[in-house]
Amino acid sequence: MQQIAVIGAGTMGNGIAHVFAQNGFKVNLIDVSAPALERALQTIEKNLDRQLAKGSITEDVKRQTLQYITTFTDLSAGVKTAELVVEAATENVDLKLKIFKELDLHTSPDTILATNTSSISITRIAAVTQKAGKVIGMHFMNPVPVMKLVEIINGYATEQTVTAAIVTLSEQLGKVPCVVNDYPGFIANRILMPMINEAIYSLYEGVAGVTEIDTVMKLGMAHPMGPLQLADFIGLDVCLSIMRVLHDGFGNPKYAPCPLLVNMVTAGYLGVKSGEGFYKYEKGSKDLVVSERFSKTVNI
Ligand code: NAD
Repeated sequence: MQQIAVIGAGTMGNGIAHVFAQNGFKVNLIDVSAPALERALQTIEKNLDRQLAKGSITEDVKRQTLQYITTFTDLSAGVKTAELVVEAATENVDLKLKIFKELDLHTSPDTILATNTSSISITRIAAVTQKAGKVIGMHFMNPVPVMKLVEIINGYATEQTVTAAIVTLSEQLGKVPCVVNDYPGFIANRILMPMINEAIYSLYEGVAGVTEIDTVMKLGMAHPMGPLQLADFIGLDVCLSIMRVLHDGFGNPKYAPCPLLVNMVTAGYLGVKSGEGFYKYEKGSKDLVVSERFSKTVNI
């Protein structure tokens, strides 16, 4: 496989394009937004410079990586010659279904269609195409150039040869693939999000404060980041929407999102991206400051 198309040039798409190009694949990076493509190329160059400064790549690799990426705003032109398409557009079901219907029209019958979705059913996406056997989940982690895992998700109809090809390809990218089946949240988010939700419940019920909850999980469980800080980093809106996918998908009340999480999202306290969640984020400051709303210790 040589020619890859990546759809969506945001946080994940630019990282996916970077990793493929760095490993010798030609990448067509596609986005509806020309400024997003421009920003993606800048981010990739900045990240390559960081790798260069650390000595993990050479100038030649940097030059080749940038040369191997071509940008497109027209989907049909960008995917025409692709042997694999990795879709990493905005997490919205209707948008993804529309993109996969278009991919069905503009790619060859053998082209593998992968999605980087965090929470949408692969089987549902595959069902809008005429080649469900070629559709698979290829769930990279953020930041893509750094994180080793690729969670590979078999839809109900995914062909075994397609899974095998994506496993091999992930290894060629220097990643560690893990193959799982298509049920709500797959494995990563099915386990991560209820842990985050439980941390929020612990805060909501006054069992402990933000610092205590995060410190217990960091120092006690050797997690690099506490669950509340991680929730801020992921975005509380994203956490809430994944909890709703689990709750709807399994119909089990154990996945009910914590009312505090619902309130924070409704009020626009989304974590790092909005400037405040469980912590407050001042521009330019690296200090971890607990939001004033949670600074009081409650004894009950
Ligand atoms: P993002 O908002 O940073 O980027 C999405 C990009 O998609 C934007 O540049 C937007 O212009 C583009 N886009 C929207 N509609 C499009 C279309 N019709 N055609 C082409 N491009 C289009 O989003 P992201 O965080 O990079 O997430 C992308 C996908 O990756 C989502 O499915 C998300 O669930 C998944 N994901 C995200 C993370 C994460 O930590 N951010 C981790 C794993 C998986």
